[in-house]
Amino acid sequence: MPYDFRESERKWSDYWKRERIFRFDFQSGKEIFSIDTPPRYASGRMHIGHAFHYSHIDMIAKYHRLKGKEVFFPLCFDVNGMPIEVNVEKKYGIRMRDYDRQEFVKLCEEFADANIADMIQQFRMLGITADESLYYRTSSEMYRKYTQISFIRMYNSGLAYRGEHPVNWCPRCETAIAESEIVYEEREVSLNDIIFEGEGFKITISTTRPELLPGCVALAVNPGDKRYRDLIGKEVEVPIFRKKVKIIGDNDVIPDFGTGAEMVCSVGDKEDLKMIYRHSLPFVKTIDERGRMTEEAGIYRGLTVNEARERILRDLKEKGLFVSERKIKQNVGTCWRCSTPLEFLQKRQWFVKTISFKEDLKKWARELRWYPEFMRKRLEDWVDSLSWDWVVSRQRFFATPIPVWECDNGHAVVAREEQCYVDPLLDPPPYEKCPVCGSSLKGSDEVFDTWMDSSISPLFNAFYERDEELFRKMYPMTLRPQGQDIIRTWAYYSILRGNLLTGKNPWRDIMVDGNIMAPDGRPMHASWGNVVDPVQMVEKYGADAFRYFTASCSLGEDSPFRERDLVRGQRFVNKIFNLVSFLEFYQGKQTSDGELRPADHWIRRELNKTIRQVDDAMHSYSMDKALRLLENFIWHTLADSYVEIVKHRLSDRMAFQNVYRIILSSIVMISPILPFISEDSYQRFFRKYEGMRSIFDLSFPEEMEFDAGEAETGELTANVISMARDLKVKQRIPLSEKVSRVGIISKGIVIDERDVMGSLKAERVSFEQGEINERIVSVKLRPEIYQSLRGKAAQLEEMLRERPDLIEHGMEFEGIKIVKDDLTVIREYSVKGREARCSDNFCVTLEK
Ligand SMILES: [Zn+2]
Ligand SMILES: [Zn+2]
Repeated sequence: MPYDFRESERKWSDYWKRERIFRFDFQSGKEIFSIDTPPRYASGRMHIGHAFHYSHIDMIAKYHRLKGKEVFFPLCFDVNGMPIEVNVEKKYGIRMRDYDRQEFVKLCEEFADANIADMIQQFRMLGITADESLYYRTSSEMYRKYTQISFIRMYNSGLAYRGEHPVNWCPRCETAIAESEIVYEEREVSLNDIIFEGEGFKITISTTRPELLPGCVALAVNPGDKRYRDLIGKEVEVPIFRKKVKIIGDNDVIPDFGTGAEMVCSVGDKEDLKMIYRHSLPFVKTIDERGRMTEEAGIYRGLTVNEARERILRDLKEKGLFVSERKIKQNVGTCWRCSTPLEFLQKRQWFVKTISFKEDLKKWARELRWYPEFMRKRLEDWVDSLSWDWVVSRQRFFATPIPVWECDNGHAVVAREEQCYVDPLLDPPPYEKCPVCGSSLKGSDEVFDTWMDSSISPLFNAFYERDEELFRKMYPMTLRPQGQDIIRTWAYYSILRGNLLTGKNPWRDIMVDGNIMAPDGRPMHASWGNVVDPVQMVEKYGADAFRYFTASCSLGEDSPFRERDLVRGQRFVNKIFNLVSFLEFYQGKQTSDGELRPADHWIRRELNKTIRQVDDAMHSYSMDKALRLLENFIWHTLADSYVEIVKHRLSDRMAFQNVYRIILSSIVMISPILPFISEDSYQRFFRKYEGMRSIFDLSFPEEMEFDAGEAETGELTANVISMARDLKVKQRIPLSEKVSRVGIISKGIVIDERDVMGSLKAERVSFEQGEINERIVSVKLRPEIYQSLRGKAAQLEEMLRERPDLIEHGMEFEGIKIVKDDLTVIREYSVKGREARCSDNFCVTLEK
């Protein structure tokens, strides 16, 4: 009966849950391996990146369990912030700000709840056994309490502050946006040349944003620019608005950009802001929080930014002040959620100090072990690029409330720790009146940036402020697994806060995954029609096959989705199933004790090597390497070779026990990657001998004893057998049919003749002498050389077939040097007219 993955996967994931196999035991005396699971965003369907990333994490958890650790692998969800708000707006066709706040929050909770139920189901389907007894969600009062407490501590020690700063503002989402949330998109914009008039002169400036004309506070030119040098200090009139502004000189102006003269506006970009500070220019607010023109814009007041741009351009043209426009490409900072171009607004916000910790941050990052190491550079580059503190307040509804009340004079009263969790819109302040001025207090309606919640995950996981003894045991955690796209947010903020609040890094290791791309190598995108649904793939090939693919992707690199890897994974699963069926067939048929033969020593030696290498690979989070090693060992060394050798003597107890041990050890090693077939195999066959309730209760395999000399003989024996089997296939002799003789032509090798005869059904083995004739069947050039030789390549390959001397010593052809390594040579051998298979020091022939 073939393996039914659907039934098996359903059965064993139910079993794991029912038997609580993967539950963390607080009483256990074992060393803890703790994983700071990424709380998954409860905002929608699982995409392939989730399925990939959480499968990787699960493999690490299962491996360390086999290594005897008590594994802490919480199940958690991120249930805060804009992604959910935006989804709820879409789902119900409503606008958050037109809706009752508490009602809206309720809709968000419901939406998240429904998603979470699905997501837990998806995890189980993939064999991801995050521990439901360690469940948390960042929207729970319990979790938010510690977000608030950690903020209060930072506030009290001067690390968090209220300040007026220009912030990046999304007019669509009506909220401040942190630097880390800006997505730069290349867009085509118009660069417009506009005339400003001064006393007896005109100057043409270039701008991509004519709608900012009412907020123009100066014109700027480069002081080294001869065309404009003499105009510095003179006044000009802002067209339409008839306001006088000065021409200033600033080295940041690029003379080659447009006309080399530009406007300085207070809601322009970061460059404008620098000039405003440098030249002490005033702020003029021309765009409001919803992206509409303010009263400063006069007759354009109330228009959207785009409407104002069109109208102002039209009016400039009428007045003859518009010269020309041309399209240019520009990097525009946009909102990560809705792609709306961002504006700079001067706002009162809450900030957490980051800029003063830049050097510390790089030092802390160096103290962590990064997998792969190059990801640390990404964090360092990010830290170097930062220019402002972290703005942590958001003007949204669905997130952790900032635990603050304010009076009309702008004094802030922060909650007491023991009040938390607290919602200042519903709960009373710690004092009745403002302690500074005595006026009444109003609860803040601002909420925290979602990273304020998620960046305390290691603190929360380690029972920060909840249980001191546990905290000492659990902190720092062992591992933070995460995606590379959130190095500059989640990793960065977690390292910062962990260190600021506890003086220690939050983890020992950080592992960073790459992305799964579409089969065509591009990012998956609904509008490109190249999105792969992981659920469909699991239904088609099974979770193990899907995990096989994910394990094959190298850590930290982007990998295209390859359906053929799932096909291959499924075949590998069936191979394992057949190995166990093989054992099942032979169990209980042992009639003699027997003894260990050379091949048994050899397979033990190979197993030991595999154990060491797989252990190393898994230890350093290289699932791809572990998979390659195990696939090679199980498929080729074990199934194709050893099993075929040992088959003929499985009536011996020693032989059967050996193959039993080797197969079980292999399956235990692959079980973190392919948990379902492994558990299925264990329950079907091994459990009655091993006794434990699950394969995951066993230990990572120990090395087996072997004799080095015997193993050497065993390896040669295995090689002889595989070459002779090859000949049997080539000569169309059924593998089960007897042959009269296996001939070995060599200068004397030691092999186990009993296994050669037994596994090949040969009547005898004979050692002989004889001349070995070699014939070159084909010569193939390396593809690059083949291509550069164009039409002449085939001709050269033909010629080389006759010239072993040139193959050996190399040559030059059409000016290209060709050496031995550039060629793939297929040879055929024969001895005394009989077809042979040859290795470096012996040949094998077969006689029917
Ligand atoms: Zn937005
Ligand atoms: Zn006050």
